[in-house]
Amino acid sequence: MQRKKTRLIRIGKIPIGGTAPIVVQSMTNTRTENVADTVAQIKRLIDAGCEIIRVAVPNMPAALAIEQIKMAVDTPLVADIHFDYRLAIAAIERGVDALRLNPGNIGNPDHVALVVKEAKKRHIPIRIGVNAGSLSKEMIAKYGGRPTAQAMVESALSHIHILEKHNFSDIKISLKAHDVPLTLSAYQLMSEATEYPLHLGITEAGTVRSGVIKSAVGIGALLAQGIGDTIRVSLTGDPVEEVRVANEILKSLGLKQYGPTLVSCPTCGRCQLDLVNIAEIVEDKLKLVTKPITVAVMGCIVNGPGEARDADVGIAGGKGEGLLFSKGEIIRKVPEDELVSALFAEIDKLDKEAN
Ligand code: SF4
Repeated sequence: MQRKKTRLIRIGKIPIGGTAPIVVQSMTNTRTENVADTVAQIKRLIDAGCEIIRVAVPNMPAALAIEQIKMAVDTPLVADIHFDYRLAIAAIERGVDALRLNPGNIGNPDHVALVVKEAKKRHIPIRIGVNAGSLSKEMIAKYGGRPTAQAMVESALSHIHILEKHNFSDIKISLKAHDVPLTLSAYQLMSEATEYPLHLGITEAGTVRSGVIKSAVGIGALLAQGIGDTIRVSLTGDPVEEVRVANEILKSLGLKQYGPTLVSCPTCGRCQLDLVNIAEIVEDKLKLVTKPITVAVMGCIVNGPGEARDADVGIAGGKGEGLLFSKGEIIRKVPEDELVSALFAEIDKLDKEAN
């Protein structure tokens, strides 16, 4: 996969663009000014593999809370701000690492200049984030009364030009829609038009079931074309799930090694144990494992031994029992009700050997 080269920026300690690995980010859904809840959620996101956290800053208490949040976590923090330049200044002064802010929505050019001056002074990047649902009436009218990829790109470029007029180039861009083909076209056009790093996402993608599919298809298709430097999966649900899904998308394209990979068969008429239940328990327990190992859970001797042998650890089902494998070797035959514990005992052994 040939990745499109973009300009390198840095959000706190995390590089984005250039040849840097693709970064996973998410957004809290707590009230930012509730520092205890926000920090607790950020810690869960970090544990799931989130590398950059965005928080909503709709009011001054939220902007001021950034100082305390920054004291509790060292993962880079992005403040999501609309319209009010004072919130941006306050967030910058409280130590935020980046802003999501569209300068064209601030209005007064003096206020924009002030925000840019403060951001420049502290090397704080700004993400221009255009969503299909919030294009201006004029832009919609210009492009035939509906959001188009061209309208989204033109809108983003107009915000970019405002920053460039101030010699500001620490920029990242997103162009999100809930419509996957529209999102793909917008990012493809933008990727040709600029070298700024791109933040990928399908917005308002829905609840976990539909959101995972739309995000995997949309973000995955762009990444497969070499487009994208950081990703955020948006789900109506627990943001921790967004991070898990984002990491799975990167893992499935070979763009990241993070945590375990579960290989499990779909089962068929040859399966003679409750493999669906076993695979679900294994998947759940693997959430606590961070090591990049491959675990195979297979239903019978047709494909089971091959996959289990190729994995770090695995089981190949038989009649009410299974063969346990570790590092390509058969360890022993295990009764069905002991398979999960035997499998995790082998995973523990691998962990101890590695340490
Ligand atoms: Fe069926 Fe065996 Fe293949 Fe699983 S591994 S799908 S049980 S043939």
